[in-house]
Amino acid sequence: MTRADPSAPYLLTPGPLTTAPSVRQAMLRDWGSRDEAFIALTQEMRTRLVAMLEGAHEDYDCVPMQGSGTFSIEAMLNSFIPSHGKALIPSNGAYARRIAKVMACLGRDSTVLEKGDGQPLCGAEIAEALARDPAITHVVAVHCETSSGMLNPLHAMASATRQAGRRFLIDSMSAFGALPLSPADVPFDAVVSSANKCIEGVPGFAFIVARKGALEEARGNSRSLSLDVHDQWSHMNRTGQWRFTPPTQCIAAFVEALRLHEAEGGVAGRGARYARNRDVLVAGMRDAGFVTLLDDHWQSPVIVTFLCPADAAFEFDRFYERMKARGFVIYPGKQTAVESFRIGCIGDLDEDVMRQVVAAARASLEDMGVANAAPSLVQSSAEVSQR
Ligand SMILES: *Cc1c(COP(=O)(O)O)cnc(C)c1O
Repeated sequence: MTRADPSAPYLLTPGPLTTAPSVRQAMLRDWGSRDEAFIALTQEMRTRLVAMLEGAHEDYDCVPMQGSGTFSIEAMLNSFIPSHGKALIPSNGAYARRIAKVMACLGRDSTVLEKGDGQPLCGAEIAEALARDPAITHVVAVHCETSSGMLNPLHAMASATRQAGRRFLIDSMSAFGALPLSPADVPFDAVVSSANKCIEGVPGFAFIVARKGALEEARGNSRSLSLDVHDQWSHMNRTGQWRFTPPTQCIAAFVEALRLHEAEGGVAGRGARYARNRDVLVAGMRDAGFVTLLDDHWQSPVIVTFLCPADAAFEFDRFYERMKARGFVIYPGKQTAVESFRIGCIGDLDEDVMRQVVAAARASLEDMGVANAAPSLVQSSAEVSQR
């Protein structure tokens, strides 16, 4: 990997993120959206995405959708949950709460099982909630809660849902393509992810991978024309085309990103690189005195939340500027109870880059005159995980 360049900094963010040069290069031509060559590109993309499921996947299909990840979350909820349905949303962060907000906007019934930011979820509580409320038809779960970096126990949540005879929908925006997903292990109706996360494409669209039976059942549920997953699916299967103008260059870039993903060893290879990135980052930052929000057990290989140092000389905005001047764009925190910031492990970067990130963090603290990176006592990791 190359050295950090302040004029084109590494994006240590959960998308848009740093892409490979060949991915950006793939955008330098025009495509007719109804042309055979572009139809083939769309088909290659759909096939490759379904093939990322572990084990048998012939019962599944992929429906890409214009817009950012949230558009496809809305499309999934609007299409797979019928108007008389009700969702249970296990929540330990901002992305679960966004799902609840979308449900409210759609005028669909839902109930939130709120654990609080960064707090673990478990299958037993979902089983209890489902037993208490027979009106619940679907459980909608976040795979990696990007607001904290927490990896949620998908298998336990899906099993509890299946045992209670309900349907499982997944926001795997920041995990799909880097963490394995097996329909045998995690029975689900639909999962959403987007172009600019672990597949390392550029932003512009997202996609839903769904059980064909659930796609059939979704016919007529949507109260939106543009976000109708069933209609997009059936139109695409009939014509090979998107219903409305597709982001052609983004898709060309994404297909190149999918080829790179395969060359890296698929989901296992991608996940292994991200895990090394995380391990080097966490070890180096701890060595510099920083404390992580989460215990290692819950820490995903996607993004890490660090608590802000208690030292009065530390200010996040100044730290951000100094990191950026060294070629690294980091991410503000999204925790309600503690001051924090986040550093992403995903994108076209490796452990060598992560070592440079740690060196830049040390140098930035020094610039600011922060002698000790430890957070205040009330913010210590032990306290947070006991809340
Ligand atoms: C990125 C992300 C989203 C979608 O965000 P957009 O800004 O709409 O692309 C949703 N859920 C999770 C968990 C995410 O990481």
